Amino acid sequence: MSPSEALPIVAIVGRPNVGKSTLFNRYAGHRRALVEDTPGVTRDRIAEEIHLEGKRFLLVDTAGLDPDAEGALTRAVQAQAEVAVAQADAILLLVDGRAGLLPADEAIARVLRKTQKPLAVAVNKIDQPSQTDRLAEFYRLGLEPMRPVSAEHGLGAFDLLEELVAVLPEPPSSESAPDEDQGVRIAVVGRPNVGKSSLVNRLLGEDRVVVSSAPGTTRDAIDIRFEFAGKPLVLVDTAGVRRPGRRTRTAERGSALMTARSLERAQVALLVVDAEEGFSDQDARVASMVGDFGCASLVLANKWDKVDRERGEGVLEGIRHGLRFMPEATVLTTSARTGWRLNRICPLALELARAGERRIGTAELNRWLEETVRRHAPPMARRGRTRRPIKFFYAAQTGVHPPTFVFFCTDPAAVRPSYQRFLENRLRERFDLAGTPVRIRLRTRREGK
Ligand code: GDP
Ligand code: GDP
Repeated sequence: MSPSEALPIVAIVGRPNVGKSTLFNRYAGHRRALVEDTPGVTRDRIAEEIHLEGKRFLLVDTAGLDPDAEGALTRAVQAQAEVAVAQADAILLLVDGRAGLLPADEAIARVLRKTQKPLAVAVNKIDQPSQTDRLAEFYRLGLEPMRPVSAEHGLGAFDLLEELVAVLPEPPSSESAPDEDQGVRIAVVGRPNVGKSSLVNRLLGEDRVVVSSAPGTTRDAIDIRFEFAGKPLVLVDTAGVRRPGRRTRTAERGSALMTARSLERAQVALLVVDAEEGFSDQDARVASMVGDFGCASLVLANKWDKVDRERGEGVLEGIRHGLRFMPEATVLTTSARTGWRLNRICPLALELARAGERRIGTAELNRWLEETVRRHAPPMARRGRTRRPIKFFYAAQTGVHPPTFVFFCTDPAAVRPSYQRFLENRLRERFDLAGTPVRIRLRTRREGK
């Protein structure tokens, strides 16, 4: 995804257990729970760019980041629907045809009925055509179109999505996309109440910073432009972290939709976590979104003023442990209250943007590859009973933001994730790619060609 694109957003809403996750998977075309080869780390995808019948959009599971709804289910799903109504371009409501119509579904529908936005209802878990009479009771929701689907078996799911996205606007063409020269684009993300808004305000309050607030590209996005050390920077889509007096509802601050929306247009993410509370599962989900969108990241361990000195090292260790699936992340302790280390943020953000945009010469890249593979040979590829060494031939950089590389080798499938990660880490060290994700794709090339 390029940093300046703002794709239309399709939000999936629905109460827990209706099958949102299963449906999202099916649309996204892969297993959503990516079992990383780091032990103990599994993570869910929350947003994914989808191409369907000539349309491109961002599909977001709005429940993906929201706090546990225990005890306050109706309020939680209603808040989720409200955010979708305010922020998405189209909404897909999912209900459970097996469980039947429940009060929480009605609560969501009450919110959705008020919107003019394109909308569709999927009655899920209709695994066989004979079960379509289960739709009947859902007509009471008063929302159309409504179709039976089976997320598990795929029945009907794509037809409905096609129908829904047919009315979406075309994404902005590259000519109308915001000018990259206008500055490094920074998103401030994190779960609610970690201090995003306080940080933004304090940061912009510093007198070295010149501010102008301009409407963003689409929807009601607000981009705040400012200058730091003579360099232009843009805080993208600050709707979720507005300046005082323009605060949005808590539900929006840190929601999956707002997070996806700002990350898709940013080069650098400031991932804010609450140092006092420590690193939570929800922080991990936001962090993995940052990686999915290819943003370079600076992790701010905020509210550092509340952390006793003797606890400090342990707190940082906890955060680093939580972030072990993105070892590239830089962690900076900050306090929006006292101003501690806020002066480090802009210089680091500029550095990170440079890392994400770095281009490495092909000759230099290949010298590095040859040397690295020689010093630390890849494990053997097993083919039946024979074991053969994997040979790496050639590498090329194919993109930036994040830096993306193709490595040609004899047997890509036999390259273990641990070796790939080894290459990635060496590459990052050698070429000063600290803080940015790096994508490596392995392609086959036969020997002797
Ligand atoms: P979420 O909480 O809304 O994300 O729901 P999940 O995707 O986690 O699904 C909840 C449960 O419903 C899981 O046990 C799924 O296997 C099951 N499920 C999802 N889709 C279908 C379906 O189309 N048919 C049936 N029979 N079960 C489904
Ligand atoms: P957001 O939801 O992430 O935008 O969080 P806010 O900026 O609204 O902050 C949530 C609460 O944490 C507010 O009461 C802030 O005053 C407080 N807060 C934010 N940053 C800090 C900090 O660095 N130190 C302390 N002690 N409190 C903070």
